[in-house]
Amino acid sequence: MDRDELNLFVAAELARLQRNFDSNVRNKLSGKRRRRRLLKALGGCCKMCGSTRDLTVDHINGRNYCVRKLSSHMRVTRYLREYEAGVPLQALCRSCHGKLEQARRRNARQTVPF
Ligand SMILES: [Zn+2]
Repeated sequence: MDRDELNLFVAAELARLQRNFDSNVRNKLSGKRRRRRLLKALGGCCKMCGSTRDLTVDHINGRNYCVRKLSSHMRVTRYLREYEAGVPLQALCRSCHGKLEQARRRNARQTVPF
């Protein structure tokens, strides 16, 4: 590889990195924007305490998949599709969401299956 070839190689590598970076940033931004849009559609504040900070999306009737396995980007995509399909969702702040999940787990334990 001579000097010119090396320069071309470096320029191509830099362009590739820049493209990847741009697309990552774009995906992140649009994910954030879509999340904001969804939370706004759900009232823009916590259904339990009215807080507008640290909002999360709660599935009122529960959900049958593990959100931890989804990237934040896939998560918001899924929530938006569910919202559009009429799945009952609500906005809750992180603290109320935690309390509600705890209460749900307690109730689930008390329910006798037979
Ligand atoms: Zn709250």
